[in-house]
Amino acid sequence: MTVHIAPPRVIDPSVDHSIQAIVAGTSTDETCNTDLAAAPWTFDTRPGYGPGSSMGDVIPTGAPRQGELPAEYRETSDADLEARIVAAKATLGDRVVVLGHFYQREEVVRHADYVGDSFQLANAALEHPDAEAIVFCGVHFMAETADLLSRPEQAVILPNLAAGCSMADMADIDQVEECWEQLEDVYGDLDTPDSDGLLPIIPVTYMNSSAAIKGFVGRHHGIVCTSSNARTVLEWAFARGRRVLFFPDQHLGRNTAKAMGVPLEHMPMWNPRKALGGSDAQTLTDARVVLWHGFCSVHRRFSVDQIDKARAENPDVRVIVHPECPMEVVDAADEAGSTDYIRRAIAATEEPTSFAIGTEINLVQRLAAAHPQHEIFCLDPVVCPCSTMYRIHPGYLAWVLESLVSGDVVNRITVPSGVADPARVALERMLAAKPPASVTEPQTS
Ligand code: SF4
Repeated sequence: MTVHIAPPRVIDPSVDHSIQAIVAGTSTDETCNTDLAAAPWTFDTRPGYGPGSSMGDVIPTGAPRQGELPAEYRETSDADLEARIVAAKATLGDRVVVLGHFYQREEVVRHADYVGDSFQLANAALEHPDAEAIVFCGVHFMAETADLLSRPEQAVILPNLAAGCSMADMADIDQVEECWEQLEDVYGDLDTPDSDGLLPIIPVTYMNSSAAIKGFVGRHHGIVCTSSNARTVLEWAFARGRRVLFFPDQHLGRNTAKAMGVPLEHMPMWNPRKALGGSDAQTLTDARVVLWHGFCSVHRRFSVDQIDKARAENPDVRVIVHPECPMEVVDAADEAGSTDYIRRAIAATEEPTSFAIGTEINLVQRLAAAHPQHEIFCLDPVVCPCSTMYRIHPGYLAWVLESLVSGDVVNRITVPSGVADPARVALERMLAAKPPASVTEPQTS
């Protein structure tokens, strides 16, 4: 059946423009919080993740805070900031590499030398060993990963220190250490393999976790995964252990293990605020995957009702969601895959197609602008970007770049060597883990 799609049109990729229009009353769309129209420095003096998807999440004590952005960056026009960023980048030349995450706002991404997911960007930085500074327009754990992989002399800079990640923050290192001790009480010595050569449990952390968690995993025979290689990594872990402790994202862990045939009853959740994670010793003994009680508040917004509505309006719509979405949403979608999978799936489609996408709005809006022959829309009708990515505004980018021009490194992210060494081990294990020949994305549906 041929799908009728409207002729190509010009689409504005800027989520900020959408939000400003909603707040000004010139758009009938909805946003989850009208404070998103305010400048991010409005929130630098307040605790919390700021307006957006994570605004209801609990921010940990001690989460990095951003100091006051100098007035000259707060009190200038968007056009002036744009010109200053371009000029500073031109002055710095090859001395700096600017990286922009897929979920970053358009006004920042347009200045990036590379745009990608967190691991692609860390690898892109490796291609510039002579650059003095890597400006990572993403969130805190991404800058930490870039610091782990870059040369010690290179400064990795996060333009706004308040750009954390609420999901990564849900796996606190003290809670994880406490969990490990409790698991040792259940399983016995966690460092000694059984007669089959298998350890009782292998810790696996999603890339979206702090360097401290990656270091923990590296010290305990474990490994890091991304949303692209989660299945390959779980296969690596099951070849070495009876069970897996997966953190911080319960949904990526559940969706991936379910697609591998692990029954749901063998995937208990670990709630760090309860004894034995809220489980019991027998359930933990029978477990194949123990899921940490973490989630992404952006991807938790997607629902089966949204998919049903999209299909009711267009039965031919192609629904692709990220595996950080809840299991019911992944099961109801046509496909599930990483941000890069989503991007490539759309780029590979020649026939005009209607795509309903379940991932962060900045990426969806940019894809819609880049592929006007398709109809591409976010499954969530409410404009609600990732709170923390949204904290990076061109004002902060101009500030860090002009500081570099003046010889000052501000907002440098440095992982201490005691954490960095085992964290690198966990990342190297991931790079060495190879998928079986039959495994390609999508891996979770
Ligand atoms: S989209 Fe979710 S996982 Fe990604 S940075 Fe934002 S809160 Fe963290």
